[in-house]
Amino acid sequence: MRPLPLRADLVGETPYGAPTDAVPVRLNVNENPYPPPAAVVADMAAELARALPELNRYPDREAGQLRAALAAYVGRGMTAANVWAANGSNEVMVQILSAFAGPGRSVLSFAPTYSMYPVYARDTMTAYRVADRATDHSIDFAVVHREVAAEPPAVTVVASPNNPTGTALSTAEVVQLHEAVSADGILIIDEAYGEFSTGPSALDLVPELDRLIVVRTLSKAFGLAGLRLGYAVTSADIVDALRIVRLPYHLSATTQATAAAALRHCDVLLAPVAEVVAERQQQAEWLRGRGVPVADSHGNFVFIGPLPDSRGVFTRLLEQGVLVRETVVPGYLRVSIGTPAENEAFRVAFGRATTTTGAAS
Ligand code: PMP
Repeated sequence: MRPLPLRADLVGETPYGAPTDAVPVRLNVNENPYPPPAAVVADMAAELARALPELNRYPDREAGQLRAALAAYVGRGMTAANVWAANGSNEVMVQILSAFAGPGRSVLSFAPTYSMYPVYARDTMTAYRVADRATDHSIDFAVVHREVAAEPPAVTVVASPNNPTGTALSTAEVVQLHEAVSADGILIIDEAYGEFSTGPSALDLVPELDRLIVVRTLSKAFGLAGLRLGYAVTSADIVDALRIVRLPYHLSATTQATAAAALRHCDVLLAPVAEVVAERQQQAEWLRGRGVPVADSHGNFVFIGPLPDSRGVFTRLLEQGVLVRETVVPGYLRVSIGTPAENEAFRVAFGRATTTTGAAS
């Protein structure tokens, strides 16, 4: 077969995706373990039933009602003009790079972090630059200033809480980052896991920091990963710039209707967050009690290691029907917080997976 005339920088690349093994306990993609409750499903279905007979028409290109509903959820004086929505926060961030990065420009991030950032950069033909975090996974501002001095990044993207470490930025750190990069660039704070954090949100800073974009999603705390709805909160000017690069009618009428209905029930949908936070603390304490180092997590997952034999532990967990995530960091595993029963199943399996070799001792 003739080789495809693929873009040279895509030759040899493979599609991104975590393994989706059909095992009883799946703790590998940071999903919310609880499906939407029946009353919420009924309301989403009713809203869909209203949208479906009009599917001969294109949807609202500006997703006005949904953006207004998202603004009301966010509060802080935000209106629809400050909110942009797309199919998952992944799409929102690709749109941001399409508008503000691209050929001849660079995007800067701090590792270890979310493995899709280099993919967004590649796909928008942006140079990806990644600097190391400090050993406690925080951002080292000496490194930030060095990187900016070397070449001002067009976009800087930092997840807070960070994936995979779970560590979060303070308000002062977000302000400091904005100060460092905003003369020539945009700062994205990716708060995909924001609702699980007990700390402050960068959303508080949107009214005062003009180059800040806070990105959020309904995939995690809201438990609506299958819906594909992410959003950005920022200045009206930046939203207008994103409208230039979005494809027309990018957000389907069914997505808009379902998401708007879901937001009417945000209290119900977010109710399990308190349990996840308590379970995360319990999981971290249990692991630390066994001598396993655990990062200080603000997400719905814990980052554990270094383990002497993380590959072996991963495999022995899987043999017992518990799927966790091997991370880009050798020796470390990331474990999502599931239901209390799933978390207990993890503890039992982890105990067995480590006592056989003394890996966690
Ligand atoms: N940001 C981070 C840090 C994530 O971990 C994820 C999903 N794993 C996303 C963004 C993307 O989420 P979605 O596209 O489902 O909104």
